[in-house]
Amino acid sequence: MGIPSIKDLNLKQKRVLIRVDFNVPLNENGIITDDARIRAALPTISHAVGQGGRVILMSHLGRPKKADKKLSLIPVARRLSELLGTSVNMAPDCIGPKVSAMVDELKPGEVLMLENLRFHPEEEKNEPGFVKELASLGDVYINDAFATAHRAHASTAGVCEHIKAKGAGFLLMKEVEYINKALVEPARPFAAVLGGAKVSDKLELVENLLDKADKIIIGGGMAFTFIKALGQGIGKSLLEQDLLETARSILEKARAQGVKLYLPVDCVCASGPKDTQRVLTRTIQEIPDDLMGLDIGPASAELFTVALSDCRTIVWNGPMGVFETKEFASGTMSVAKAVASSQGLTIVGGGDTDAALHASGLEGKVSFVSTAGGAFLEMLGGRTLPGVKALEK
Ligand code: AMP
Repeated sequence: MGIPSIKDLNLKQKRVLIRVDFNVPLNENGIITDDARIRAALPTISHAVGQGGRVILMSHLGRPKKADKKLSLIPVARRLSELLGTSVNMAPDCIGPKVSAMVDELKPGEVLMLENLRFHPEEEKNEPGFVKELASLGDVYINDAFATAHRAHASTAGVCEHIKAKGAGFLLMKEVEYINKALVEPARPFAAVLGGAKVSDKLELVENLLDKADKIIIGGGMAFTFIKALGQGIGKSLLEQDLLETARSILEKARAQGVKLYLPVDCVCASGPKDTQRVLTRTIQEIPDDLMGLDIGPASAELFTVALSDCRTIVWNGPMGVFETKEFASGTMSVAKAVASSQGLTIVGGGDTDAALHASGLEGKVSFVSTAGGAFLEMLGGRTLPGVKALEK
């Protein structure tokens, strides 16, 4: 792979500008409710500190369009300081003379947190003037924010044009290495398990995986467009009418290429995701006209489990049903178990899938859980991520 690691770079006494993903969830009182993203960046930050770098951290938080006190990174800097066991200085902004002065004063091993990048709309626009100012803060650039690597923003792509010494942090490197293990010469059989609400969100993914996987297992709401494309009735289940033809051609392509494509054979139905009064399990052929499929049924869970049992590489994205509701969670939990009990390489990613895996208590049993949603899907979908490409030598 053509991207240098932070380990390959000389950081001693250098101003090390690190893009991290500190986009943590906050409650209404501004308290961090989950600090996993801060913890995930610790190995990279500690390495830079240990190497005698003058560490400057930058991140976005939320989606502000201008400065917004509620989305300040001050609480994040505080939490980081607790986790690192050293003080973390907080800059009043991410660019400007005051920030430059604070950077100049940084001593080797000290850490400075810049204020939320998205207080400046220029960040997302990758605006050249803003890029230049940001880049002027660092001698070395490190990207450890895989979750935003699919965006060509100033802090993820633009700055790379100005800083020669650049590389990936440990987290980003790990994400790229794991996903590449599945995409480039995977141990076979290689299975992709896809679920979630919509086909439209995963079209690129399905199409790219058709050329790479031996088995594609489709569950969740997205399965019904494929089932309908086969000429079956699906009651009131989720349907993307405009994608029926696409679904048909995917099924045809899978057949032509010898990819084994699995769809549910039964499902758990109700009148809607909130209706837990009348929950019925039916075969796919017998979904009542007035009900919708909200989970895969037990026969499908068994079928998918058997299909996965000999796989040496498994990638899983998307729940098998409305797993947030107990009555419709069983299929997703069965798939989580099947993935977790595999002896092969198992990679799980995407916000909802992580949450489902977490709910199953099996996250420690898979090889790798991606921290990213969009970036994970785009990379699996065969796209080159701008934030990764920008690091290439
Ligand atoms: P996605 O973000 O596309 O991975 O979709 C995740 C969402 O899909 C979750 O919130 C699930 O509740 C929902 N979902 C999964 N299966 C179904 C289904 N059969 N019908 C409706 N929603 C579903």
